[in-house]
Amino acid sequence: MPETDPNSPALAARNILRSLHDIMASRNSPQAKLNQVVQVIGEALHSEVCSIYLLRDGALELYATRGLNQEAVHVTKLALGEGLVGKIAENVEVLNLDEAMAHPDFAYKPETGEEMFHSFAGVPIVRREAAIGVLSVQHADPRRYAEVEIEALQTTAMVLSELIAGAGLVDAAAARGLSSRDSGPQELKGLKLVDGMAMGVAVFHQPRVTVEHTVAEDTEAERHRVYSAFRKMREQIDAMAAQAEFGGSGEHQDVLDTYKMFAYDEGWSRRINEAIDSGLTAEAAIERVQQRTRMRMRQIQDPLLAERMHDLEDLSNRLLRIVSGQLGTAAQMGLRQDTILIARNLGPAELLEYDRRRLKGVILEEGSLTAHVTIVARAMGVPVLGRVPNVRRLIGEGDTLLLDVGACQVIVRPTPPMEDSFLGKLALTNKKRAEYASLRDQPAVMKNGERIKLMVNAGLRDDIGAMDIMGADGIGLFRTEFQFLVSATLPQRERQQRLYREVLDAAGEREVVFRTVDIGGDKALPYLREEDHDEENPAMGWRAIRLSLDRDGLMKAQARALIDAAAGNTLNVMFPMVSEPWEFDRARELFETQKNWVLDQGRPLPALIRYGCMLEVPALAEWLDVLLPKIDFLSIGTNDLTQFLFAADRANPRLAERYDWLSPAILRFLRRVIRASHAGDVPVSICGEMGGRRLEAMALVGMGVQRLSVTPAAVGPLKAMLRNLDPSDLGPKLDAWLDLPEHHMREKLAAYAAENGIIVD
Ligand code: PEP
Ligand code: MG
Repeated sequence: MPETDPNSPALAARNILRSLHDIMASRNSPQAKLNQVVQVIGEALHSEVCSIYLLRDGALELYATRGLNQEAVHVTKLALGEGLVGKIAENVEVLNLDEAMAHPDFAYKPETGEEMFHSFAGVPIVRREAAIGVLSVQHADPRRYAEVEIEALQTTAMVLSELIAGAGLVDAAAARGLSSRDSGPQELKGLKLVDGMAMGVAVFHQPRVTVEHTVAEDTEAERHRVYSAFRKMREQIDAMAAQAEFGGSGEHQDVLDTYKMFAYDEGWSRRINEAIDSGLTAEAAIERVQQRTRMRMRQIQDPLLAERMHDLEDLSNRLLRIVSGQLGTAAQMGLRQDTILIARNLGPAELLEYDRRRLKGVILEEGSLTAHVTIVARAMGVPVLGRVPNVRRLIGEGDTLLLDVGACQVIVRPTPPMEDSFLGKLALTNKKRAEYASLRDQPAVMKNGERIKLMVNAGLRDDIGAMDIMGADGIGLFRTEFQFLVSATLPQRERQQRLYREVLDAAGEREVVFRTVDIGGDKALPYLREEDHDEENPAMGWRAIRLSLDRDGLMKAQARALIDAAAGNTLNVMFPMVSEPWEFDRARELFETQKNWVLDQGRPLPALIRYGCMLEVPALAEWLDVLLPKIDFLSIGTNDLTQFLFAADRANPRLAERYDWLSPAILRFLRRVIRASHAGDVPVSICGEMGGRRLEAMALVGMGVQRLSVTPAAVGPLKAMLRNLDPSDLGPKLDAWLDLPEHHMREKLAAYAAENGIIVD
């Protein structure tokens, strides 16, 4: 619409904004400013009445009016949800009525003298996503306000929000974007991803930008800023797609596609442009359009669309951050106190950027049990609660949080008694932990005298000490790719070697099993900009051994680093995601060639190299008769194995709880592999997350597993469980149950544990 058109929403709003700009810039008191605002709006919209209600002490108070009785100012109050004004604030919605009194929610307030007015239009004054007040107009004639007038009201409301929050006229919680309903203590539920308890303040991984200035000084300059922000955002999205930095699950691909769709959406950029035409700053224009979209979305109850809007919200925030120059994540800004981090989702590398001393917990809107970010958090000893809906709306930046993942909950803004009870429980948990620690020097010997080799999964330098603290028998899985994930560039051979040497030195006599890099899947490296990373389904794509054999430079460097680091020692090395024995043969050959090369250089060799294989791809189970004679040990990676057995993406939060590790399908499969390994005299261990859970571990040991490699925090609890277990009693029973399986093995096993005094939870 051309700007000279008197009906142009831009022009109507711009005229109002020009006046508002002067009012805001004046030295008058906030009350005087609001008194002037109602005059300006009333005149501009030819309305006898214009009123501003503000949220104070939990109620909407008439704060300024033109046209209603002045005696009603600061006297008339409406509860949230009461009357038209209360409804607008509660639902954050617009009302536009030609006959206000005919509306079922109309609440008559005699002191205002409003009975003479028929038409009514009101818009919420929004701070972040919640209403902090209402701006309304009324007219004697029954007429509906035009779309352009409503637009002008909404733009005015946005400017008012800046004035009101800045002047401290409303409840503090409301000004922080929390509706009064959400400002008290709240209990939010989620999915247990990494057990633990923590208290800290809420920090958003991607801090929300607060729009400070809404009225533009120079519209052309603002337009320019938005143009270049759009350009930059599109470049970022394209780069993400090209690098598959988002790589991982198909779900991430969906998000990326949606991002792309919105980033190039003409409608979105046009609406932002129109908002700038009306006189808003670039930031305010983006926020204004976002608010409008949110309001529309509230009226549409379509979960699929809601998900899409989530993506638009993310993108809108990204655009805001670019335009305002507030680019960093919370990690880059540094954590200043005990923190509970909040994010929609995180990559493992993003999590590792945080200061481990201050990061006490993580709350995710998404997340699943075996996603690598969860595994990394577990390795870092950071509790994680996943799948908590609406965190941005319900938690404010800086809120105190009590995270109790064991209870699947977080308490937001706790009262002092809640804090006390939390701290009491925390002390009890710590006491329990101390009891486990007292088992540190005790071996994991079971009732029948048999000893289980309990090792830890590790991957970060800081994990090495966990072995000693937990009294573990070694490292059963050292995920070498973690070093690649935390580096900004590909770690050179020397750096790799240094880390491996440190690990071996710390382990001393104890066994360490190095796994060659498992890159790909949800462990994409931003610096490997290979076109090949752009995959439909990276978990089943070019990852781990597949990538290593094709790009053997990477594997050669790692082989030399491992061989040099283990000079004079035993080197245990295993290969991830082997699907057929020839892949193992090729990898072993590559190592042997590198060993000979090191020897030719006159450098000392490991005393022994033991080659192992991970069983994560179900197809390999059909090759056991061929594979077992070739290998020194087998390690079952149940995280990947179960995702492939059930065809259920391990990173997909919707499937996180669908299939049970104790389902007969998994247990029977494992039993077959364990039996074959025993028959072939090949040591077999479990290194997936399953082995770290007590009931699951009980079943595994009942099936004959003698080696478990688990997350360090699980060592103590597992030892306590194992010391009460008699596998010679459970073994035959479990066998019989699996021969005639029932859907609910979990209940059967739990009942067995309870009957036999075995602590499993
Ligand atoms: C597994 O898949 O079970 C495993 C141990 O490897 P990762 O979790 O690193 O893929
Ligand atoms: Mg795996």
